Amino acid sequence: MNRDVVIIGCGIVGAAVAYELSRYNLDVEVIEKENDVAMGTTKANSAILHAGYDPAPGTLMAKLNVEGLELAKELCGRLNISFRECASMVIAFTKEEAAELEKLREQGIQNGVPGMCILSGEEARLMEPNLSKQALAALLAKSSAIVNPWEYALSLAENAVANGVKMRFESDVSGIDRVENGYEIHTTSGIVRTRYVINAAGLNAEKIHSYVASPSFRTLPDRGEYYLLDKSEGRRVNHVIFQCPTKVGKGTLVAPTIHGNLIVGPNNETPRDAFDTATTAQGLDHVAQMAKKSIPSLNLRESIRNFAGVRAATDFDDFIIREVDGAPGFIDAAGIKSPGLTAAPAIAKMVVRLLEECGLEVVQKEKWITIPRPMRFSEMDSAEKRSAWAKNSSYGRVICRCETVTEGEILNALGSYIPPRSVDGVKRRCGAGMGRCQGGFCSPRALDILAKYWRVAPEEISQDRTDMYILTGETKAEVKRECTT
Ligand SMILES: Cc1cc2nc3c(=O)[nH]c(=O)nc-3n(C[C@H](O)[C@H](O)[C@H](O)COP(=O)(O)OP(=O)(O)OC[C@H]3O[C@@H](n4cnc5c(N)ncnc54)[C@H](O)[C@@H]3O)c2cc1C
Repeated sequence: MNRDVVIIGCGIVGAAVAYELSRYNLDVEVIEKENDVAMGTTKANSAILHAGYDPAPGTLMAKLNVEGLELAKELCGRLNISFRECASMVIAFTKEEAAELEKLREQGIQNGVPGMCILSGEEARLMEPNLSKQALAALLAKSSAIVNPWEYALSLAENAVANGVKMRFESDVSGIDRVENGYEIHTTSGIVRTRYVINAAGLNAEKIHSYVASPSFRTLPDRGEYYLLDKSEGRRVNHVIFQCPTKVGKGTLVAPTIHGNLIVGPNNETPRDAFDTATTAQGLDHVAQMAKKSIPSLNLRESIRNFAGVRAATDFDDFIIREVDGAPGFIDAAGIKSPGLTAAPAIAKMVVRLLEECGLEVVQKEKWITIPRPMRFSEMDSAEKRSAWAKNSSYGRVICRCETVTEGEILNALGSYIPPRSVDGVKRRCGAGMGRCQGGFCSPRALDILAKYWRVAPEEISQDRTDMYILTGETKAEVKRECTT
């Protein structure tokens, strides 16, 4: 079967491109090496939609950041993706840093960022009472926001599938051949032929590029480690609190999350390899020290999880979004470091424009449907909860006590366009396991529901990636029978 377009990788960029292409009468397939959407960098980042003052004016990062933020607002509204406007403050602790704020503001103006102003330390503390007394000044940017990155990517991917895009999970791309009128993509689940290719493989984009052309950029992976604090700390700050950016990044932030927790991080570490998402005591100590500089009263004992994400930085200081030299119809969307989450919908529109320039004819579909994210039980008012339970009694069985996630929501996710395969897949869709106990209570129950749905033995259900099994040994025969019949 010859596809029109194949997208390699289903992080936020691949999902946004799939969503954008699903508007048109095209045969599109997404190839993803893992068993779910958002399993790479999109899974582990700061979850901020940046205002856009940080990237250097004239870069793709600057342009697509500001455009992406505007598009994200509209998209999140349309698809009911959790989105909260949350102004950011960049804090200056020295006179030199205060001068840096002025430069950032100037940059922001050039990039078209609305709603910025510089506050004195006192003014900033009035708005953010837990801010350090050492803060001299702050750049306030009103347009930034917070989201749930994996919900964002999943929703875009699900809508793409609902509109005819095919998803091929657990398919690692291992080689690409040029053939007449396109490419033959070799994957661990077979060969796919296509006219056009989008390389949205994140940390593997350099490798995918190397299958069709000689190297034109080098990946320099850069790891950032985090604390996620319990909701008891969620109101410690009201804004996204940054420090002055350095050459390597935006510095350590303290910010509310969309679910009411507090996120603290990241640092910059050179990982052992691009997929080394380990956290280290040393790295986390550094994060703690930096974060307390902004918010001295921060209570890191309320940490419920540590995690790390790896930035797909390259030796080219901008996003790399272009048709590859000598590979017609093959488009790189590589080096998508921060603000890639913010820029993704604008990156997708740019990719479609590039495809058209390469000769792809796009004709809008007559019928293009929208599947909004289902409302969570915990978001419903009492009448809505009663009605959900009256229609389906499984909405009366609470599986995750911390986040009040019901069996009904998990079954609903299993009936969706991209059903979860793993316990963390359930977490990403329904929030079960996101709370203070981090799945201690609900994981076995989610595992049981998954095993019954997929008609497999409980030992075959993984925590996250396909080979991350939770149970080993023999499961009691009656449990096995119940799950597989
Ligand atoms: C610490 C940190 C903090 C960040 N904070 C922010 C922030 O607050 N705001 C912001 O805007 N941006 C932020 N970013 C950047 C943002 O997370 C990324 O730009 C974005 O997630 C990149 O998305 P992607 O789709 O390009 O890559 P990914 O999410 O990595 O997706 C690539 C996909 O390709 C798949 N893949 C790889 N190789 C193959 C193969 N051979 N075959 C098939 N599939 C393959 C992977 O499994 C993966 O699913 C941050 C990044 C980090 C690391």
